Amino acid sequence: MVRFTDIDEMAAAKLADLAARDLRRDLVDTCAAEGSSGPHVVRDGVSMISFCSNDYLGLAQDKRLAAAAQTAIETFGTGAGASRLVAGELPLNWQLEQALAAHKGLPAARVFGSGYLANIGTIPVLAGPGDVIVMDELAHSCMHAGARLSGADVRLFAHNQADAAARCLVDRDDFRHALVLTETIFSMDGDAAPLAALGDVAETTQSWLMSDDAHGLGDSGDNPAIVQMGTLSKSAGSYGGYVCGPGHFIDLLTSRARSFVYTTGLPPAVLAASLAAIGIIEAEPWRAEKAREHAAHFAAAFSLPAPDAAIVPLIVGDAQTALALSAHLAQQGFLVPAIRPPTVPVGTARLRVTFSATHKSDNVDALIRAIKNAPFEIAQAGAHKS
Ligand SMILES: *Cc1c(COP(=O)(O)O)cnc(C)c1O
Repeated sequence: MVRFTDIDEMAAAKLADLAARDLRRDLVDTCAAEGSSGPHVVRDGVSMISFCSNDYLGLAQDKRLAAAAQTAIETFGTGAGASRLVAGELPLNWQLEQALAAHKGLPAARVFGSGYLANIGTIPVLAGPGDVIVMDELAHSCMHAGARLSGADVRLFAHNQADAAARCLVDRDDFRHALVLTETIFSMDGDAAPLAALGDVAETTQSWLMSDDAHGLGDSGDNPAIVQMGTLSKSAGSYGGYVCGPGHFIDLLTSRARSFVYTTGLPPAVLAASLAAIGIIEAEPWRAEKAREHAAHFAAAFSLPAPDAAIVPLIVGDAQTALALSAHLAQQGFLVPAIRPPTVPVGTARLRVTFSATHKSDNVDALIRAIKNAPFEIAQAGAHKS
């Protein structure tokens, strides 16, 4: 074991090791192109069309969100100044919570600093030592983190297999509470969870189902989950996280979710932008439809299964080919990063292609042509579909 006395020497050695394993990550400036209300970005000084944003509805550059944010800054200033429980409780918080609860059709909602904070704060309130958490193996990193923080027994079930979730609960009686966790739309595969079947599992085993709708398009339909979390930083084009559920439970979060209690409330501008976004999502359903339509058109061009939302994985196999294809597309002005292990399983390196309401059909067709004409063998295995 090498022991370092100098912190930066330690960091340099770890970075070198990450680089040797192709795991080092670095930041690249990527800004919306000036005056763009759509997917045009400038990355490291080069203009590109982005096919990797989670701004599925194209709201992050919407002037109405910006105007709402500006008004909030003029009225309330730039910072909340304190935890919501101390003195940071702006009325915009509960206005947003009421809008979210109504939008989801659930009794109550609480807004958190981010989706990540919502999951790591909420899961330990639902389950603890003596309880069991059963979660989809592909669930997001912050659900894993929340599950680990809870101290409950954690079990993973095969992706989207409700019967596998049920098998994890055969010894249900050995535990006090049981919590089943899933995403609604999976971030790297774009497929939808079998929510109705998972709802049945939860009901027959007297468990609670909690869903993470981070990649939903704001119109996720019937969801039997009693606790539904999501983010305001993807489809809503703003920032922050939320949890919707029964009234007393939401009140319990206010007292017990550590990532709610011990952190500062969101800035006024962010809350106002989110509130404006909910109104637009409800008034303009064409946005979600458009994003879905682009994704379906792209998937059909590669004979892939029809996608459930606005994410289509183009699985190319090995990491090097994925990187080379991504670089090839970048040269032609398309930003589609390669996603490699360990983010996805070995042998399934892919381009994760995402679509937005603000893409034009011409943009999508141009990307399809560029991929078809690329000098690479694409070992498309098809997204995992059960
Ligand atoms: C992005 C994401 C989160 C975290 O949301 P943030 O608001 O970005 O912190 C949580 N869950 C899933 C599935 C996500 O993709």
